[in-house]
Parts: sequence; structure tokens; C-alpha cells
Amino acid sequence: MIYLYIKTCNHCGLKYLGKTIKDPFKYKGSGTYWKRHIKKYGYDVTTDIVFETKDKEELKNIGIYFSYLYNVIKSDEWANLKEEAGDGAGKGFIHSEETKLKQAEKAKGNKRGLGTKRSLETKEKISKKAIGNTNFLGKHHSEETKIKQTKVKSKTWKVTSPFGEEKIIINLKMFCEKNNLSYTHMATRKYGSKGWRAVNIELKQTKKRKTERKARSWKIISPSNEEFVIVNLEQYCKENNLHSGHIAGKYGYKGWKATKILD
Ligand SMILES: [Zn+2]
Repeated sequence: MIYLYIKTCNHCGLKYLGKTIKDPFKYKGSGTYWKRHIKKYGYDVTTDIVFETKDKEELKNIGIYFSYLYNVIKSDEWANLKEEAGDGAGKGFIHSEETKLKQAEKAKGNKRGLGTKRSLETKEKISKKAIGNTNFLGKHHSEETKIKQTKVKSKTWKVTSPFGEEKIIINLKMFCEKNNLSYTHMATRKYGSKGWRAVNIELKQTKKRKTERKARSWKIISPSNEEFVIVNLEQYCKENNLHSGHIAGKYGYKGWKATKILD
């Protein structure tokens, strides 16, 4: 079995999308930036399996699909330096220039200089190619695609077999077709179809953490012991070139500390 997983650093929320044939809960992930991060801050992470299959090609498609869905290369929230195409380093969709740029920018801790090396159009082409005929997305670029992608994000399903085995899938319709089950029954009825059940799940952890961190107010202590209250920690850190995850941690960041003010 090949697993596509998302690991989230429990301290700062940094995420990593990866694949493995090993036990994804034991396997720590192999990305250069990710490995550097867990080496520095410790391996205290949450692992979510987002897809599993025996089919390499399928995993590759879904991996690329997720890479673009979450914008893992460009996004500061992700440690990925390239798409998770499921075929290891040195192959697949590697854009060396961009990768290097990102690596350098990430190392500097300043992501503002990142240019748009690859046009949106190219990205969409690639993601469409990856998605192939799996019907995940609509036909148009722009907003519509975005809306659909967001919907798809919450279209993750936990499927339970008649024998109680659980599996996370992202295309219930395709799954039902393959297994000769009724999609309507699976999607809408508690008892599903032919002993199979499906529950719609969201990658809640990711979402929750994000809003939580944005909504709360924080007490900040500067290196010179000044105290003040701010609302958006993420933004504050960006403006002051601080690490929003680690400033809230036990040891703070560069002499700065942040504590959540409880409502
Ligand atoms: Zn971290």
C-alpha cells in the first residue's frame, strides 16, 4: 500500500505532504526543509492519511492534485519544496529554478521575494493533467475552479467496509463505481450501501488551527520586556519578521514571546 499523508508540526503548524510505503505514522517524512525543521524543533507532529492506494499512477495523480490544491510549494505553511508526485527525488515535476529560489527564501525566513516563476495557467494545466479524467474539478479557470477546489477539500470520506476496515478516500463517486455500490446511498444514508458506510470528513485540524490562531488575541512580550496586546499573531509576526509558531512556543523566538489571551 502507498500512503499519501500530511504531517503537521504541533508547535508551529508547519505542514508537509508526503508519500510512503512504510507505516506513515512511524515514517517521519523525507523533504529536506521538513527534515531540517523537525531536527531543529523536534519530531512532535500530527499525521493524517489523506489517501491510500496500491496503484502508483493513481497515487501520483492524487499527490499532484493535493500539491496544487494546497499550493504546497508556494505556501509558507508547507515545508514542501516540490510537488509530491510520488516518485521520489530527482524525478517528476521538479522545477529546479523555483525550487532553489524557494529553498533560499525559506532559509532566509523571508518569503516576500518569491516571484511568480510559473504562470497560473501553467499550474492549472499541470493540475488538470494530474487530475486527468477523475472528475475532481470543473472546466473553468478562475474563481469557479477555486470554489470547486475548496469544496473538494471537504469531500474527503471515511469509508467503512462490511468487515469494519476503514479507509480514507477523496472521490466517493469513483470509489462506489469501482466497488459496485450506490453512490447516493453511500453519500446520504447512515447505513450506506451493501454493508459499506461513508462519512464525510474534513481535514478539520488544518482549518481549525488556522482560524483559531487568527481569531484570538495575544499578549506579546518584546526582548526589552515591553508588553502589548495584538489580535492577529500571524500578521504581526510577518510584519516583524518573526516565526509565528515558535514565538508562541515555550521558548519564544529571538527573545519575543506570545501568550494566548483566553476569552
Ligand atoms: Zn514547527
